[in-house]
Amino acid sequence: MSSALSSAPSDSAQIPADATFSDLGLPPALEAAISDLGFTVPSAIQSQAVPALLSGRDIVGVAQTGTGKTAAFGLPLLAAIDYDLPAVQAVVLTPTRELAMQVADAIQSFATHLPGLNVLAVYGGSPFLPQQRALARGAQVVVGTPGRVLDHLDRRTLKMDNVRFLVLDEADEMLRMGFAEDVDKVLSAAPRERQVALFSATMPPQIRRVAEQHLNRPVEITVSRQASTVTSVRQTYAVVPHRHKTGALARVLAVSPADAAIVFVRTRGAAEEVGSALIERGISAAYISGDVAQTEREKIVDRLRTGALDVLVATDVAARGLDVDRIGLVVNFDVPREPETYVHRIGRTGRAGREGEALSFVTPSEQSRLRQIERTTRQSLQQVEIPSPAEVSAHRVQTLLARTAARAELDRLDLYREAIAVHLAQNPDVDPFELLAVVTALAVGDEGPVAVQHGDDLDDALSRAHLTGGSDRGNDRSDRPERGERRRSDTHVAGGSPRWRVAVGHRDGLQPGALVGALTGEGGLTGKDVGKIDIFGSFALVDIPAGLSADVIDRLARTRVAGRPLRIRLDQGPRPGHGASRPTHGPARGRS
Ligand code: ADP
Ligand code: MG
Repeated sequence: MSSALSSAPSDSAQIPADATFSDLGLPPALEAAISDLGFTVPSAIQSQAVPALLSGRDIVGVAQTGTGKTAAFGLPLLAAIDYDLPAVQAVVLTPTRELAMQVADAIQSFATHLPGLNVLAVYGGSPFLPQQRALARGAQVVVGTPGRVLDHLDRRTLKMDNVRFLVLDEADEMLRMGFAEDVDKVLSAAPRERQVALFSATMPPQIRRVAEQHLNRPVEITVSRQASTVTSVRQTYAVVPHRHKTGALARVLAVSPADAAIVFVRTRGAAEEVGSALIERGISAAYISGDVAQTEREKIVDRLRTGALDVLVATDVAARGLDVDRIGLVVNFDVPREPETYVHRIGRTGRAGREGEALSFVTPSEQSRLRQIERTTRQSLQQVEIPSPAEVSAHRVQTLLARTAARAELDRLDLYREAIAVHLAQNPDVDPFELLAVVTALAVGDEGPVAVQHGDDLDDALSRAHLTGGSDRGNDRSDRPERGERRRSDTHVAGGSPRWRVAVGHRDGLQPGALVGALTGEGGLTGKDVGKIDIFGSFALVDIPAGLSADVIDRLARTRVAGRPLRIRLDQGPRPGHGASRPTHGPARGRS
């Protein structure tokens, strides 16, 4: 070959584990480009795949997402190209349009010191003609989805005669998406004298078959996630009953240090339901499923990338190939049925050398699925607890206090100093420290932990004996007010007066008179103590401005109305994002 980039063949066995890029035998123009990109140490897959490919071997690379596969094949691919020849010499197949664009961009970025090298992405759903023109102009590297590449072959707008390098990226995904036959045809259309690199996160039998049929004595390279220098993802799980998952999710997001999070659900319906519930709580969230139009999907992914959005709820199909560095947390709202899906999901975090966490919610009956995942990933998952409301409140206070130094620096506090001085002068009994606690509670925006015995909620479900209160009003989705009732309950939140919640509602045939009767009878209140009552499907809210003492709560908790125990408790505070002064940090950032 007349490549200007000829390089010494090297033997992968001689590359030490702590190799640098200059040990890999890459041409200087490529070394310069990766140094521009800030890559200093090759990842495990790179230090093994690059020398093997440079020496002309085929390879099978088993590596999860985020291990640096693009450079592992992209650099040797570029080294094999004769850029004076205006013909397609390398073809990379990827499962999705988004991945095709990403990989094409990455290869282009490795080629900055190779003038005259043209990389083209081709994919379905976009017009044929511009792609055809770019091919005619002599693109040397084509990155595309199997279907569209095959279309170009069929129309003879893409010729394989000069192809000497083929890559199957995320091969298992391509097969899962039904591209087996197309992949087969593209490989069969390539000249015999060619190199093939096949990458896959998993190695099901179908992939082995592809490798046996189309690859020539491939070098097999397997990289475990731990061995990867590019990423590290902490894998955890929490046992959460199905009906409490949304509440648990809101708490997890509220305390997570991650910049952004992706929440995986199984169905389109679940995506909408969970996404809406988060949005309703003031979390900066959106949801997508497979039937969302590509342009819409790209817009949403872009907002996630720029920080306009912090939480994305998605189905597996919708999140395919998604690569956003800000994602520090993946939540598996459901345990995936196949361990391979799990592997793909967690690959959405820990990108670009960052830390990531993957948290899976499992219901008590699903715990056996974890074992299966552990066997597939060869890693154990660590059990964690869902944070309690008190922990959520404490986290919010810490976040708020952490911002005080910078705010003090800004100064411009005279107005506040004066207002406080006047307030203290007018209220000599008020202790300034106490006032500070109140102002902090208002700024944090929830009602703070209360020691109230209550029944069937998330925390009981999680069997935790801790103080409750705080941020996840309505954590039990079945208890949420129905449409139309919601507005009234929001009005209550905005008003900020403490309300009490009883576990009896319309469904039980609750009448306001019966509730007032119980409160004034067993509760010993007077009619005047009882304010507005709102009755919802499975619960009711009641204003008791003067509050309730602990023993009244105790007595009322056991009182039965309409045949059911009242289980009275303080209605848990406003939802995250309510109020202008909420600390904004992490994925739970409010709308404010
Ligand atoms: P994969 O295809 O295995 O999912 P990518 O090739 O997309 O992984 O790489 C993941 C991220 O890591 C990208 O942002 C890439 O720029 C970065 N990266 C890859 N190799 C290195 C390296 N050697 N040093 C630093 N960053 C790297
Ligand atoms: Mg990749």
